[in-house]
Amino acid sequence: MARAHATRAPHSSGRPQPHITVVGGGFAGLTAAITAAEAGASVTLYESHHTLGGRARTADEEYRTNEGPHALYNGGPHWTWLKQRGLIGDLAPIPPIEGTRLRLHHRGVLRRTPPLAMLRLLRRAPEQAPIDVDFATWAGAQVGEEGARAAAHYSAVALFHHDPGSLSARFVHTRLRRAAKFPPEAHYPVGGWGSVIDRMAAMAWNLGVRVETLARVDDITEFTDRGPVVVATSLDAARRLLQDDTLRWESGRTALVDVALRTRRGDLFALSDLDATGWVERFTAQDRTLAPAGEQLIQAQIPIGPEESKADGVARAEHLLDLGFRDWRERVTWRRAAVANGRTGALDRPGTTWRDRPAVNRGDGVYLAGDQVAAPGLLSEVSFNSAIEAVTLALTAESGLSGMSGLSGMSDGKGAAGRPGDGKPAPWIDLKSA
Ligand SMILES: Cc1cc2nc3c(=O)[nH]c(=O)nc-3n(C[C@H](O)[C@H](O)[C@H](O)COP(=O)(O)OP(=O)(O)OC[C@H]3O[C@@H](n4cnc5c(N)ncnc54)[C@H](O)[C@@H]3O)c2cc1C
Repeated sequence: MARAHATRAPHSSGRPQPHITVVGGGFAGLTAAITAAEAGASVTLYESHHTLGGRARTADEEYRTNEGPHALYNGGPHWTWLKQRGLIGDLAPIPPIEGTRLRLHHRGVLRRTPPLAMLRLLRRAPEQAPIDVDFATWAGAQVGEEGARAAAHYSAVALFHHDPGSLSARFVHTRLRRAAKFPPEAHYPVGGWGSVIDRMAAMAWNLGVRVETLARVDDITEFTDRGPVVVATSLDAARRLLQDDTLRWESGRTALVDVALRTRRGDLFALSDLDATGWVERFTAQDRTLAPAGEQLIQAQIPIGPEESKADGVARAEHLLDLGFRDWRERVTWRRAAVANGRTGALDRPGTTWRDRPAVNRGDGVYLAGDQVAAPGLLSEVSFNSAIEAVTLALTAESGLSGMSGLSGMSDGKGAAGRPGDGKPAPWIDLKSA
């Protein structure tokens, strides 16, 4: 495991060192643990799996598939935070020639350029898209129904929902703009997201965080006497752990088809389906370390509706592969398929924003962090922002810590015992964002 450079943060004199328990060792849990330890708290992190990372794990196998994220978006708050700590590591740039191999499937043919209507939509400022109206209605009124549908389907690369047009216009438009930005926001850590997790784990270790793996927590009451508890699990797991049936928020359902193919010149780099939702990307185009020499690793992400089966998703993935990867069936060396259900982050319906999701502060010293709670951002940025917020609120409540000046509160305005910090947003948190 790589060792990130870190030193233990000095603790404020005189006062007893507060203790924070973190349940869950994914991106949110590790962010919370590092933040608390840097501020001088003693931290214990419990993870039920035998390795850390949660959905951000990368398979330690011949084909280095990511369980969840591939892209680290440089427009997000986590980018600066990770960079400042030397945790991003080497990035795998997309070779210029591969950049020319991106295609859009529109009206049944492969195109190099997006429809004009989609470009017109991208020029709209985020505030122009209403929160209360669905994206299809708003965008349809701006650029016509067909352009709105194509744009909605493109945005699925960052939403993992089969019908993005039915979601809040502000929510979808903000993500569409980020997913279509040029130069692209998406960056790829060499070796996958798992390499970032390894560096975060090493940093937590260097900061003195006590990490217990294969340590599933079934009852947090044994920890609440010691100090604040940050529950950094998925929202489903938090609902069971805290026995709180209100901990619910919508997320996507996506078929994931990973295939390894023998290399063939002329394969596409990426293919976005604008006629339906679907994205295929050859991740070895930018990172050769993900598959053995002479092979390419590709993933198709096909959002599926509640009535659709995994087989339906696989069939659509195979259709996109037929379009972009000639003779791919004869070149397959390995493949697998799965469905990610409720694991791809929060989705906001018309009339809702991140502020309406389950609050970070649950009262009685318990805080939630994760990608379906009340914090802004795209995908894993919600986990990051909520983890920072949870630790800020926890340590502010404990008070008297050194190092807290760097952590100012983000009021989520919710929660039974809402304690909104000092009311000033942390510099990396964009409170205007939907
Ligand atoms: C297919 C897919 C693609 C994605 N693509 C991207 C992308 O490109 N970019 C991006 O930024 N994000 C992406 N995401 C989202 C990203 O993966 C998640 O937002 C992020 O990894 C969530 O981290 P987390 O720590 O909040 O939750 P998790 O990763 O789920 O971590 C929770 C941890 O808690 C542990 N746990 C659960 N219950 C208990 C318990 N009782 N006791 C102890 N431990 C427990 C779990 O084992 C797990 O390790 C993607 C997700 C998916 C599924």
